Amino acid sequence: MKALVLKEYNKLVYMEVPDPVPAEDEVLVRVMAAGICGSDVHGMDGSTGRRIPPLIMGHEASGVIASVGKAVRGWKEGDRVTFDSTIYPLDDWYTRKGLYNLSDNRMVLGVSPGEYRRDGAFAEYVAIPQHILYRIPDEVTFTQAAMVEPVAVATHAVEITPVSWNDTALVVGSGMVGLFVIQVLRTRGCGQIIAVDPEEEKLALARRLGADHTINPSTRNVNEEVLRLTDQRGADVAFEVVGKTESVTAAIHSVRKGTTVTLVGNLSPEVRIPLQAVVTRQLRLQGICAICGEYPAVLEMIARKVINVEAILSAEVPLSEGAEWFKRLYQGEPGLLKVILKPGE
Ligand SMILES: [Zn+2]
Repeated sequence: MKALVLKEYNKLVYMEVPDPVPAEDEVLVRVMAAGICGSDVHGMDGSTGRRIPPLIMGHEASGVIASVGKAVRGWKEGDRVTFDSTIYPLDDWYTRKGLYNLSDNRMVLGVSPGEYRRDGAFAEYVAIPQHILYRIPDEVTFTQAAMVEPVAVATHAVEITPVSWNDTALVVGSGMVGLFVIQVLRTRGCGQIIAVDPEEEKLALARRLGADHTINPSTRNVNEEVLRLTDQRGADVAFEVVGKTESVTAAIHSVRKGTTVTLVGNLSPEVRIPLQAVVTRQLRLQGICAICGEYPAVLEMIARKVINVEAILSAEVPLSEGAEWFKRLYQGEPGLLKVILKPGE
């Protein structure tokens, strides 16, 4: 089959590779659409240590089942499917507690951090364990289904954050996941949603997708603006979707006392936090990891047009042009959000 292979750091090659051989409990999926994730773009230069070459990346995808392993039940050739990005063991302490995203020895599709290597979906075919498959509703296209993964990450972040009716929510970072957090928050009965981003284009998109107010931190003070919009009290809840000292600090200073700041972004492995502001204002900082069962809800929300994924779609291109698009994303071309690769073209 043809695949886009990370041969060495910063070197993607579209080339012929052997077809994956699915295990007994796996299906072979013919990939129809696969999204390039920010973690692939940042990971391909070796900086995250999670994309050790050689590797076929890609963990946000959809396709059609081409064949099923001997032990597979309930799935057949021709089924339209998408799948979780986490391959979790079923017999695991965390999985048994309903926390499969935290299970020990889990793998992420299209990732190779050293302990394992699991080829992903930037290829004509990918092998997927049956227990992470989800059926795509008829109303949902393959391209839409390839964007379920990042929406599900945003949904999981909102799911574990206490949000009450009419709460003011602050979303620091209006990249793809931030824009999905805004849309999911809209379904949760929030009052004001305030979006923060240094790119005006992204702020315009944030307003289109449900933000009431937007703040550009390069021209205005985030903390002062949020206080002005909240009777000087601060936002009721905040999501940090960048992962840098400045944005984490802005989120911490802009929430009211006694609430939660959910940390979604992790661009920098370490940040400085204003400790006293956290301790004396009794804040709870919580991380979120991946997805824990949100796929069916997200697929239905897309089917019912509650979540607009197309707004974030920048381009759909053949897999053979993948290397070039990776380069454009890596260089941070303004306005470029989600790029979908299509192996069939
Ligand atoms: Zn991703």
